[in-house]
Amino acid sequence: MHIRNNWSPAEIKEIYDSPLLELMYRAATIHREYNDTVEVQVCTLLSIKTGGCPEDCAYCPQAARYNTGVDVQALMKKEEVLEYAAKAKEAGSTRFCMGAAWREVRDNKDFDRVLEMVKGVNEMGMEVCCTLGMLTEEQAKKLADAGLHAYNHNIDTSSEYYGEIIHTRTYDDRLQTLDHVRKAGVTVCCGGIIGLGETHEDRIKMLHTLATLPEHPESVPINALVPVAGTPLANNQKVDVWDMVRMIATARILMPKAMVRLSAGRNELSVAEQALCFLAGANSIFAGDKLLTTPNPTFDEDNAMFELLGLKPREAFKEKETTAQYV
Ligand code: SF4
Repeated sequence: MHIRNNWSPAEIKEIYDSPLLELMYRAATIHREYNDTVEVQVCTLLSIKTGGCPEDCAYCPQAARYNTGVDVQALMKKEEVLEYAAKAKEAGSTRFCMGAAWREVRDNKDFDRVLEMVKGVNEMGMEVCCTLGMLTEEQAKKLADAGLHAYNHNIDTSSEYYGEIIHTRTYDDRLQTLDHVRKAGVTVCCGGIIGLGETHEDRIKMLHTLATLPEHPESVPINALVPVAGTPLANNQKVDVWDMVRMIATARILMPKAMVRLSAGRNELSVAEQALCFLAGANSIFAGDKLLTTPNPTFDEDNAMFELLGLKPREAFKEKETTAQYV
């Protein structure tokens, strides 16, 4: 099968709606064709600037307008961040992601400090990723020059449902930043969240947007909402594991080479449920006991799970090798 980016919504719906075990089998087969299924990418995510965000994303405890008890913290010092990165590397992470609760990047001293952090982590031999909000093409180039490997910018949901969740920016703003990231030669990390109150149709449309980008994102995080008290979505229902499995399997079939990341909400899943997600094609996780501001399994729990399931952490910078193999 070739890598396709001309999927039609009807084709995606047919895959998404197929009987679950058939869907998993098909996804697992494609996963074996394109990836080493024993390998799982282990990423650590650190919030380098927390809370006080001017945006109104309805799921986010870091939005200044919601009363969620998150402590606002200014941008961390470079040395502190590098210390965290060194610990993450020692614990087995090969990708280090730095998240700042900004609407967009501004050309100021804080950005200069982030560039220094990127440089420092890159020099440690880890893949560096940032998620800093909207970016201009020039800013993306500066990050690339500092050694940035990936930029995370999620589309969250379908373009139709986006306006129900976020009112302070548009879907097109998101796509524009993704375009700036691509033009700068940085790899793209882009996925979404389920459990926001969207329909299955919205999930299919979100996957359609991702799978028909001119180039598939190299990483596709699939998040389950972690409802946080104080946010507008605090009372949303817990996402069913089978919905996660269905999303992951469909993403794997549509974007065979992408790292499909089992992201937020993993703390709610048993090892058996996570195993189903890996079988369905997930091959990346966030490690560390905190995911920005919400709980996540500890390194020790993950090590025990890897041992049980026979998984091993994927080495850094393997993308280039695998890309060459299948182009
Ligand atoms: S832009 Fe990011 S940090 Fe700000 S409210 Fe939205 S998700 Fe939260």
